Amino acid sequence: MKDKVTRRDFLNGTQVAIGASLLSPWTDVFGADAAKFALGKDYYPPAKTGLRGSHDGSWETMHARVSGATWSRGAPEEDVDLVVVGGGISGLSAAHFYRQQNPDARILVLDNHDDFGGHAKRNEFQVGGETHIGYGGTESIDTPSGYTDVSRQLLADIGVNLERFYDYFDQDLYDSLDLSYAIAYDSETYGKRKTVRGYGARPWEEFVADTPMSDKAKADLLRAFTAKVDYLPGMTRDEKIGLLSKISYRTYLRDYVKVDEQVLEMYQRWGMSYWCVGMDEVPAIYILGYTDGGGLPGLQYTVERKGGRGSEPYIFHFPDGNASVARLLVRKLIPDALPGETMEDSVTARLDYSKLDQDGADLKIRLNSTVVDAAHTPGGNAVDVTYVHSGDAHTVRAKHCVLACYNSAIPYICGELPEAQKKDLAYNVKIPLTYTKVMIPHWRWFADLGTRYVFYTNDFFKQVELDYPVTMGGYTFGTSPDEPMVLHMCYVPYFDDIQGPEQWRAGRRKLLETPFSTFEYHVKDQLDQALSGAGFDPDRDITAITVNRWAHGYSYSPDLLWEPEYASEADKPWVKGRQPFGRITIANSDSNASADTNTAISQAYRAVQDIKKS
Ligand SMILES: Cc1cc2nc3c(=O)[nH]c(=O)nc-3n(C[C@H](O)[C@H](O)[C@H](O)COP(=O)(O)OP(=O)(O)OC[C@H]3O[C@@H](n4cnc5c(N)ncnc54)[C@H](O)[C@@H]3O)c2cc1C
Repeated sequence: MKDKVTRRDFLNGTQVAIGASLLSPWTDVFGADAAKFALGKDYYPPAKTGLRGSHDGSWETMHARVSGATWSRGAPEEDVDLVVVGGGISGLSAAHFYRQQNPDARILVLDNHDDFGGHAKRNEFQVGGETHIGYGGTESIDTPSGYTDVSRQLLADIGVNLERFYDYFDQDLYDSLDLSYAIAYDSETYGKRKTVRGYGARPWEEFVADTPMSDKAKADLLRAFTAKVDYLPGMTRDEKIGLLSKISYRTYLRDYVKVDEQVLEMYQRWGMSYWCVGMDEVPAIYILGYTDGGGLPGLQYTVERKGGRGSEPYIFHFPDGNASVARLLVRKLIPDALPGETMEDSVTARLDYSKLDQDGADLKIRLNSTVVDAAHTPGGNAVDVTYVHSGDAHTVRAKHCVLACYNSAIPYICGELPEAQKKDLAYNVKIPLTYTKVMIPHWRWFADLGTRYVFYTNDFFKQVELDYPVTMGGYTFGTSPDEPMVLHMCYVPYFDDIQGPEQWRAGRRKLLETPFSTFEYHVKDQLDQALSGAGFDPDRDITAITVNRWAHGYSYSPDLLWEPEYASEADKPWVKGRQPFGRITIANSDSNASADTNTAISQAYRAVQDIKKS
């Protein structure tokens, strides 16, 4: 297919007729009737396609700051009780907790993006007069039984009723259609491109026989799944766990299960969308709890499988992912902004962005505003926060400031922090990844091929998968394969010659340099590989593409092989980094080095409690 992908027929992600008119950049960003900060009635970022996530216009100011640019701290134009830097789930939660404790407080939330929610972003597509919703980042409320009391209470306070998802999420749909996982083998490793369906669903003998692997690799893969062999004989369970915690899954497969190189390559990128490193950096122990997608071989008869999500299903998913958590938080903070009263009616409710930043309101969410400086006033009774909006610097004075932005940005924003604390904050290298959504007119191709998810052994996108079947409120998931579908494709920059956090720094640079046309090319090419056998034509059958580019994506993960052991919790760099500094406290999921919504909320609560200490 590679040669077939030549035509550029997507403009900002949506297939367009030549001659379609374009909005002017200013109108595009601020809406038609923009005042100084207020957003117009027609301002609606979820409907944008093309390069989203860390969209152009959101990151340049902060990068200039990192490169040494400064803006003078002007006379304060506003006076508030609290400024929150960052309008992600943590920043919005911090505003909520602070207002709970200070009901009359005046609060300003500042975020550099054109939409609130941080990684929790909503994508919308229009097809045949209907709106289709996708998740641009934060996918699900994962394992809510593990949430802290504070997080669970916040979810309840904003109207999230977790039990209802058992009705809304159709757990049987894809099984009832006999849809399973497929592996798309690459030509570089296996001699030819071939997509083999039924991974984990067909007998392994059958599946393995269909692969383009060498005879030795086929035999090894079959053995690794089916032979009742303990590959760590003579060891107690604790000894096995100890060893598997110190070696990578790749090492385990190579040195203990002794499989062929082609089998190692088949699994090398398996965890890229989760751990965002190759399997040579993921402790083998984690594979014990990883049963998704048909499971991984080699451990079945060596150690008893425990862990993972246990009996809690992965169903706590709004159609826009946890963007709904952010939207419900906004409804709690500014009720007029999101009509309705329940989590169900919020799904299709159109958020009125013009209500976010209204003159005279006690709580304002100001978008397109990058904070470049936060400094205590002489005497230390307040914090002056300077931000850049539409190219101009503005300063707001606050009694307190919660930094709910990325840890790595804080040293550049808060120059007065002690150097040791800056170093601890800089330890958190965020992980780059993209969630690309592809709107297609129906998913009959997947149904005909018996596939719900394709894993690519070595290609640009690691996977393509069908959307989660969730019907709630006025939103109906098209359970018939003849209905439109929002596909999910995940790309994580991969380097086979760089390990450790350095690969994420390199990946961030690579992501920012990758144009939309590259994503478009690979979307078409990889869907062609997976689906052309069922008649899919990538030039005809893609309606729109939205690339949610998260150059600063998941929070740093301290769970990988290279992480040193710390003498105590207090010694961990992210724990030292989040200490309050005068009237400035630190929230965000980075402050506990854990990429999850529970952490974002719990750390917001802790940061608001820290204010009392300041
Ligand atoms: C692709 C993806 C998928 C994920 N899926 C899940 C999932 O399924 N379940 C789950 O629990 N978690 C998931 N996570 C993790 C989860 O999204 C995060 O832990 C959580 O949403 C982080 O919220 P936050 O507010 O701490 O940070 P963020 O969402 O990063 O929000 C911080 C905000 O601060 C802004 N900011 C930064 N610097 C400045 C500045 N100088 N001035 C103004 N604003 C600034 C940022 O741009 C951002 O908007 C996912 C993350 C990603 C990237």
